[in-house]
Amino acid sequence: MTIIVTGGAGFIGSNFIFYMLNKYPTYRIICIDKLTYAGNLSTLASVMDKPNFCFFKIDICDKNEIEQIFIKEKPDVLVNFAAESHVDRSIENPNIFLETNIMGTAVLMDTCRKYGIKRYHQVSTDEVYGDLPLDRADLFFTESTPLHASSPYSSSKAGADLLVLAYYRTYGLPVTISRCSNNYGPYHFPEKLIPLMITNALKDKSLPVYGEGKNVRDWLYVEDHCKAIDLIIHKGREGEVYNVGGHNEMANIDIVKLICKELGKSENLITYVTDRKGHDMRYAIDPTKIHTELGWLPETKFADGIKKTIQWYLDNREWWEDLIR
Ligand code: NAD
Repeated sequence: MTIIVTGGAGFIGSNFIFYMLNKYPTYRIICIDKLTYAGNLSTLASVMDKPNFCFFKIDICDKNEIEQIFIKEKPDVLVNFAAESHVDRSIENPNIFLETNIMGTAVLMDTCRKYGIKRYHQVSTDEVYGDLPLDRADLFFTESTPLHASSPYSSSKAGADLLVLAYYRTYGLPVTISRCSNNYGPYHFPEKLIPLMITNALKDKSLPVYGEGKNVRDWLYVEDHCKAIDLIIHKGREGEVYNVGGHNEMANIDIVKLICKELGKSENLITYVTDRKGHDMRYAIDPTKIHTELGWLPETKFADGIKKTIQWYLDNREWWEDLIR
């Protein structure tokens, strides 16, 4: 089995590569990554010498380069993690989000159509559903919740999801989509909430929290997400969407306070800043479908996952200190 993993030098893609190489030593994993600011080749240092792994610095929008990889590697499966992924950056400059997240997805799927693929898997987000009110704890996103994205980032991901489902219906491309809640864990770029707060706290810098910090996210340890994708590409039904979530909703401010407590830092470091434009209030996933169909359940409790994550940032300062200089 040969699997192309795009965006594998980023946070979730690299964790997926480690997970798959460890679980399936006979698989060949081909990583394609443009190495934007969010991609870091040093993350993949421990697997670079493996005979069943190889890395190509390629933009997924570059049709010719992507075709060359297909001709050379003849992949069975493609898992598309490559994306511009930061909401704040999408508010500043939406264009690159449309190019990579939508046009890049089209290039990958057109190449799959031309050369054949057993499975094209699109890694998507719960943000495509928009948000839920804070005072309705009974509401969750299911796979049939209408797409109602709020930011340029989430609307570019929603656009890509629609295109993926259109390629299934129109061309019969064997696709699946996973829509996952917020991930946390090692190798997370320190611009996202959890790694930003850990790395700032370790440097005794202020901890910027949007608005009043009441926005709620459903946090999932990254390895649990990787396990879900592994199940979907092997056993998921073609043309289907699977929601992946941790049933672990927490307000941003509670996460920041917890990080302060774990690191022995004062909550006085917290600074409330002007809220993000169009800030989604609450995300909450109903993962019943992936649980009943594929037997997936989150395995890592947040209390353990956050400790492991903080320890990783303590042990790997050289990985993140260069990034925030
Ligand atoms: P990330 O920003 O850490 O990594 C993205 C990777 O894609 C980087 O290595 C970057 O270099 C690469 N990339 C960007 N543009 C590219 C291009 N044009 N061609 C090739 N490579 C390119 O992102 P992440 O947090 O690991 O997210 C991965 C995927 O998972 C994204 O599609 C994202 O939408 C989705 N997702 C993320 C989360 C989360 O909490 N982080 C949750 C749900 C879904």
